[in-house]
Amino acid sequence: MENTSKYNWDTGLAFDADHIWHPYTSIENALPVYAIDSANGVYLNMPDGKKLVDGMSSWWTAIHGYNHPILNKALQEQSEKMAHVMFGGITHKPAIELAKLLVNLTPEPLQKVFLCDSGSVSVEVAIKMSLQYWHAKGQPDKNKVLTIKNGYHGDTFKAMSVCDPVNGMHHIFKGAFPISYFAEAPQSKFEQSLQEGDIDSLKNHLIENHSSIASIILEPIVQGAGGMRFYSPEYLKTVKDLCTEFNVLLIADEIATGFGRTGKMFAVEHAAIVPDIMCVGKALTGGYMSLAATLTTNDVSQTISSGDPGVFMHGPTFMGNALACAVAIASLNLLQNSPWQERVTQIENQLKQEILPLIKHPKVNDTRVLGAIGVVEMKEPVDVAEIQKLFVEQGVWIRPFGKLIYIMPPYIITEQELKKITEAIKLALNA
Ligand SMILES: *Cc1c(COP(=O)(O)O)cnc(C)c1O
Repeated sequence: MENTSKYNWDTGLAFDADHIWHPYTSIENALPVYAIDSANGVYLNMPDGKKLVDGMSSWWTAIHGYNHPILNKALQEQSEKMAHVMFGGITHKPAIELAKLLVNLTPEPLQKVFLCDSGSVSVEVAIKMSLQYWHAKGQPDKNKVLTIKNGYHGDTFKAMSVCDPVNGMHHIFKGAFPISYFAEAPQSKFEQSLQEGDIDSLKNHLIENHSSIASIILEPIVQGAGGMRFYSPEYLKTVKDLCTEFNVLLIADEIATGFGRTGKMFAVEHAAIVPDIMCVGKALTGGYMSLAATLTTNDVSQTISSGDPGVFMHGPTFMGNALACAVAIASLNLLQNSPWQERVTQIENQLKQEILPLIKHPKVNDTRVLGAIGVVEMKEPVDVAEIQKLFVEQGVWIRPFGKLIYIMPPYIITEQELKKITEAIKLALNA
């Protein structure tokens, strides 16, 4: 065990509480944060030597676990060549090889790759592509976005404008947003066919407003941070058909669902559809670095290029960061060479046995499992500080929000480790 006693955690944590914002937190009434000073496999290690089984994959990202020798090596080798060079007028092997992998892994019509620095930016890029597409076609009035309620697409402004208008975490900025159209969220469950009337809200928006709609953006099959809801593949299939019928582009935000999480490499595969534009991020680098990508078809890219101003108007400073691309290549190869589908199915089966029965608990409103995702939806919002303390005492890391206690562990988690997580959830329900 490495000696970490030299760092004074008491003053470190006190400084943190006084000066550092964590995601969606107050500095004045800060909830406790937990110090982690290393991580290995499926464990987050605290300075006092306590180890927590990770149930969150650091928000969907660390699918292979932490401190992975192959990913470490990729990063180290690339850092000895170059960390980063500007992508304007320059290219490099990590970007080329990563783009090749992405083109091969995603549905065939997606041929063009835009590398960007975070999921939110990839959503901005996707929406911008859809606006430039219609502008180039001489239909600049098609410049609004239609989405479904309960979505989450990121924290930048245009991305915020298509998050759920009520629980999308951004309602106080509403007046500053560009207008988006919101259809009712799908009610047809994953195992169900499309229920009567479920598509009507979205369809009516298209009938009324298609001449001003550039694109529909949605999270395919799994709505993540906007409610952890799973919906019918037939709903998604019908959305795709309506997009074709009403001349609207379809943007699939696979940032959370991509790279195997739902049991398919990409969630659109559940419905056997191909979007016009797809966003990937989160697990792309196996949780090592911030990197995302927006993929699109030859039709979209050619149309954008044929219009005014003839170029795609985006280009972040750190575009195509070589370190991030190198570790993404290693992560995708690792995924493809692993029995990921078997592992996700094993996790799914175990979660079905251990999470689904919790529906009987009087505090629980719903339980659901899909792929390596388990959700316990409570009747009342949970006390995050209190429940997290209990989880840490039990040696697991779970970060609930609102009424949702949800987990999406690294794919390498063992049966016993996962059992520890589900047992801790059971305990928390009875606390
Ligand atoms: C996390 C997430 C985003 C935003 O990605 P960031 O990397 O946090 O900017 C967008 N869409 C979905 C579906 C996400 O889960």
